[in-house]
Amino acid sequence: MIWAIIPAAGRGTRTGSETPKQYQDLLGRPMIHFALDVLSAHPDIDGIILALAADDARWQDVGDWRGKPLRTCLGGTERSDSVLAAIAALGDVLGPDDHVLVHDAARPCLRQEDLHNLIEQASAHPVGALLAGKMRDTVKRSDDSGLVAGTLERSLLWRAFTPQMFPARSLQRALEHARQEHAIITDESSAMERLGLSPLLVEAPDDNIKVTVAGDFALAEAILKARS
Ligand code: C5P
Repeated sequence: MIWAIIPAAGRGTRTGSETPKQYQDLLGRPMIHFALDVLSAHPDIDGIILALAADDARWQDVGDWRGKPLRTCLGGTERSDSVLAAIAALGDVLGPDDHVLVHDAARPCLRQEDLHNLIEQASAHPVGALLAGKMRDTVKRSDDSGLVAGTLERSLLWRAFTPQMFPARSLQRALEHARQEHAIITDESSAMERLGLSPLLVEAPDDNIKVTVAGDFALAEAILKARS
């Protein structure tokens, strides 16, 4: 069984809007609808859970999304707290060998074929897997004053995207461990890495962008329009 988790408890302050970014308009709909559509359309995903902010008055409970069960739970202070809360809230449905697939509400351009590829590869890998893009730019490291301190070896560098899919119990252990150590965790893979585990990188196109600042909405719209 695979449940999708959408952490959607962030404020998205970097977009400069009062409205949290997952609810901002994208092609006439709240951005979060795009993640819900692509995840619910995959036959291997059994259900979806949204982690919401305590003061979220925008989400209307609907119970299902295009035929898939849709639950909600209370998110946490950090994204990783929201993911942990969602895994805990699925305690009644997840068996010991079941998986969770975590996908940001802020990545509306995920393609069905990349989702499918990730699910196939993560299901066959004991640690789990994530979508990622190969680094195309030359990457610099800076010192504290903004001067170049070195150039990194590009051929081994990847940009981590979501979705990321892991056995639910392993991810729960990894996130709890990171929390105990007060580690800053910005994706699920890094929690697994802290336990010495190596998730599989599944290459995906760069157009699975994360909408972060105001200008990214127009870019996401252009990507989605070009496909239809
Ligand atoms: O802020 P950032 O773009 O990294 O957020 C990535 C995702 O994590 C967003 O979908 C956001 O709503 C979610 N998030 C969350 N709980 C938090 C912070 C962010 O669910 N405390």
